[in-house]
Amino acid sequence: MNIHEYQAKEILRGYGIPTGTGIAVTDASEARKTVDDMGGPVWVVKSQIHAGGRGKGTFKESTAGEKGGVRVTKDADEAVAFVEQMLGSTLVTHQTGPAGKQVNRIYIEEGADIARELYLSLLVDRETSRISFIASTEGGMDIEAVAEETPEKILTFSVDPVTGVRPFHGMRVAYALGLEGAAVKECVKLITSLYQLFVEKDCSLVEINPLIVTGDGHLKCLDAKMNFDSNALYRHPEIVAYRDETEEDPKELEASKYDLNYIALDGEIGCMVNGAGLAMATMDIIKLYGSEPANFLDVGGGATKEKVTEAFKIITSDPQVKGILVNIFGGIMRCDVIAEGVIAAVKEVGLQVPLVVRLEGTNVELGKQIINNSGLSVIAADNLADAAEKIVKAVKG
Ligand code: GDP
Ligand code: MN
Repeated sequence: MNIHEYQAKEILRGYGIPTGTGIAVTDASEARKTVDDMGGPVWVVKSQIHAGGRGKGTFKESTAGEKGGVRVTKDADEAVAFVEQMLGSTLVTHQTGPAGKQVNRIYIEEGADIARELYLSLLVDRETSRISFIASTEGGMDIEAVAEETPEKILTFSVDPVTGVRPFHGMRVAYALGLEGAAVKECVKLITSLYQLFVEKDCSLVEINPLIVTGDGHLKCLDAKMNFDSNALYRHPEIVAYRDETEEDPKELEASKYDLNYIALDGEIGCMVNGAGLAMATMDIIKLYGSEPANFLDVGGGATKEKVTEAFKIITSDPQVKGILVNIFGGIMRCDVIAEGVIAAVKEVGLQVPLVVRLEGTNVELGKQIINNSGLSVIAADNLADAAEKIVKAVKG
């Protein structure tokens, strides 16, 4: 799960980590008072969306016109104007895709005096199964670009979970970042606090880009991105409270309510499959036959008729879907239950696109019978390859 920058900064402050002070607003009418109350002399107006690259982003069809989802100004009137322009506008960054994301919240922060911009992040390294730090002197840039062009400017190391984080870890980062004076000690404290936060909150990513050295030589987090392990959210109600459903794909949100494993993709063939492995194989074979899946969907091993109906509704609500492939192996799941679910769903939402059904396993004959007797124009398939070939042919003609 992702959260906004202003929320991540609240969490950072809770661990005594230095950030700027600021206020988030969702309504343009709050802008004037907020800007005046903060008092300046410099305001930073920051669009809050679940995507990075906002500073270099551009607004679509908006009075915000010019570049930038992050604007710095010394003029209170201009700060208010930025808030008014950004709210409700669509911001396109290299992470949002061409459709962009609507800006529903603005975070106004006091301006910082930047001497240097640095990069710092923590993530779970799957290779070592440990928490790793990445630090670089090249702050404010995409770390992927730095890794490609100047990998020698990146320090990475992982922390042994038995010893946990130690002052020498912080010293290593301070040295790599070329810190001096008070900032060295602050860095040791920062590394310790971030590690503690990461573990306690079950994070999967914490990225501070940029971490800055201020004009008077102190460290400060100017931006913050945090991701959390969804499987651990049950023990973090305070994190769940930060969830912003307007940032999520409505289809994925709907699917999560029914405990369906659904991920929206860009293709044209909607897939309904049971089991993650079979779902992956189904997506592969659709590609092999020359088309692209519109989604990943695992209805799970014990799906009920209601769950299948909901899954079908979510697939058909996607205007990109030009055909549907149902591929079920009935182990625990019974083919007749799937067949009934599919038919109930088709009767409820109608069927505007070709539908290929491949059933195999428990009660397969009964399942096929139910589909054949339904009077619906469903194309039956015998095996996975046959199913993929038939749906691609039905879509491409
Ligand atoms: P991102 O583009 O989504 O990563 O948003 P950031 O929060 O990282 O902001 C982008 C850039 O705006 C930063 O790298 C800074 O150069 C600049 N910026 C952000 N806050 C301030 C500030 O308080 N003062 C100044 N002068 N620049 C800032
Ligand atoms: Mn940033």
